[in-house]
Amino acid sequence: MKKVVKFGGSSLANAEQFKKVGEIIKSEESRRYVVPSAPGKRFGGDTKVTDMLYQCYAAAEAGESISALLGKIKERYYEIIRGLELSLSLEQEFTQIEADFKAKAGKEYAASRGEFLNGKIMAAYLEFQFVDAASVIRFFEDGSLDVETTDRLLGECLAQYEYAVIPGFYGAQEDGKIRTFSRGGSDVTGSLVAKAIHADVYENWTDVSGFLVTDPRIVKDPVVMDTVTYRELRELSYMGATVLHEDAIFPVRKEGIPINIRNTNRPQDKGTFIVESTCKKPHYVITGIAGKKGFCSLNIEKSMMNSEIGFGRKVLQVFEEHGISFEHVPSGIDTMTVYVHQDEFEEKEQQVLAGIHRAVQPDVVEMESGLALIAVVGRGMKSQRGTAGRIFSALAHAKVNVRMIDQGSSELNIIIGVDNEEFERAVKAIYDIFVVTQI
Ligand code: ASP
Repeated sequence: MKKVVKFGGSSLANAEQFKKVGEIIKSEESRRYVVPSAPGKRFGGDTKVTDMLYQCYAAAEAGESISALLGKIKERYYEIIRGLELSLSLEQEFTQIEADFKAKAGKEYAASRGEFLNGKIMAAYLEFQFVDAASVIRFFEDGSLDVETTDRLLGECLAQYEYAVIPGFYGAQEDGKIRTFSRGGSDVTGSLVAKAIHADVYENWTDVSGFLVTDPRIVKDPVVMDTVTYRELRELSYMGATVLHEDAIFPVRKEGIPINIRNTNRPQDKGTFIVESTCKKPHYVITGIAGKKGFCSLNIEKSMMNSEIGFGRKVLQVFEEHGISFEHVPSGIDTMTVYVHQDEFEEKEQQVLAGIHRAVQPDVVEMESGLALIAVVGRGMKSQRGTAGRIFSALAHAKVNVRMIDQGSSELNIIIGVDNEEFERAVKAIYDIFVVTQI
């Protein structure tokens, strides 16, 4: 059994957190490849080291003095080293970093040092081999990942070590220039390592015990999903539920490696498994509820629309020409409604409207804003009678007016449109009926 374990910034924010991480790793021999983030926030209002590095580099670029800011960053690491009672010195590394900042080595180089230094500490603490991500994660000059070379370099390098620490978030171009993924990118590194070494599981350790069935800002202490499929997760994260970097899914999904989201502060919790497919029925028929506010709809009416072949294409082409993606297109015999993101649409609204008039000569076009969309997602819905009925009776009892319904042909989700003001009430009502009362 081989596991890749990635730890997020909050799991490595100070020595106390490092000790918890050390215990987790040492408690299972299979936890062989460790991917650390940079130290995150120690308390509310604290600053992540990555953000401190960005600030510090901005000062260097502006020709200002960086010694105070760099001193603070140094102190974050030395606080950890002291707390772990390590005899490690990072003086040489910091001298190099200071020189590189002054020589304007680049913003991405600057940000990457957070993970680089944390990796050094982690390797010393665990007594694992340190592998610089610059030598194994390869980027093209346009900033995209060179997937094939990365896979080969990682595979060749890690075959030499039974236990290793590979810092997350960054890599390098062939000429050695350091590049980073987008924010939260250590998740991607973990996934790439898991793929390259053919791991049995990719454990992603964070500060929550997995994916919550719904947003905790709307429902207090929602339950955790035990298993979610990649497709379900995609539906949910599209609607705003995020725990994992989007690009972290692809490498492991292709290899059939499950991701297990775990909580560093509660290692006894099993967390959530993200899998390609499963015959495990979800506990509550539905897997998750997510949603977003800020949509608007264009309702287009034209008599005899249904016999006008190409009507839909012509309408959608107008959106395409203005670079606006559409979310949903429910239709009736002589009506067609297009849902779009309000902020994407607002500026171009009049041009789109004129374009639609030119393209299809509608009888009426009505616009409405302030709509929210809710996705009720669950692989279990397909085989369960009455799911839609339960959703709508819950919404009726909660006095929520349903403005739109769309069920994908995959039967994996039901999308419901409601007014922005009724969004929270609607989510609560759906959660209650499936999870709390289960009636
Ligand atoms: N440290 C980086 C960030 O704050 C990457 C990561 O934590 O995954 O975005």
